[in-house]
Amino acid sequence: MYEKQIEQLIILQQVDDEILILRDEIEKAPLELADLEAQMREFDERRVQIDERMEILKDQKKKLGVEIEEDAGKIKKSKNKLMLVGNTKEYHAMMREMDSLEKLNRMREEEQIAVKEEVVRQQDATAALNEEMSGVQEQYDALKTTLDERLAEANKKLESLDRKRKKACKVVPPPILGRYEFIRERMENPVIVPVTSGVCHGCHIMIPPQAYNDLQKGKQILSCPNCQRLIYWKREDEGEE
Ligand SMILES: [Zn+2]
Repeated sequence: MYEKQIEQLIILQQVDDEILILRDEIEKAPLELADLEAQMREFDERRVQIDERMEILKDQKKKLGVEIEEDAGKIKKSKNKLMLVGNTKEYHAMMREMDSLEKLNRMREEEQIAVKEEVVRQQDATAALNEEMSGVQEQYDALKTTLDERLAEANKKLESLDRKRKKACKVVPPPILGRYEFIRERMENPVIVPVTSGVCHGCHIMIPPQAYNDLQKGKQILSCPNCQRLIYWKREDEGEE
């Protein structure tokens, strides 16, 4: 009876360890996905910024083109009229006006070149962004597929462990089971540990001789007086776990 209970407690311990690992895996798996999702959102924001910038550049290019054409028309008209001007004063005034219009257009042409260069830069940024995005998207798709599989498998395993756990719980008397759960909630693993040569494997401290004697009799399930873990006696020649 006693040995059977100890055996089932050890099984319970193993099952609970596996459950803990699985739960941890199930909990953490979606976090990787969320991380990639956050990266993709950031890409989208960057894309919106580039699109906005490109829109502004397009307007700027259009406006410069229109202005250059308008002033070029004015210059052409003045040149034609220049032949008909009679007095010198009027002639110089027209020349000055044409000069300033030409200067203005040269500045606009320089601005046009700058705009074109900026467009190329934004296009390069878009290409780089696209490449980065497709890489992350691939990673995301692959992870999502394996994640669904991994989760389904983990959940299936969890179910079978639950069944194994219930079976073990039927053998262990409720007060012992209560003690097991109590320790499990409050202490670091493991809950049930062997004692060899009088030393508890949970806290590595020698248990008192009287308690050790009782333990060796194997009549009832005892706790380590130091760490409170459930203990069982293990002969030395059985070796470590
Ligand atoms: Zn102990």
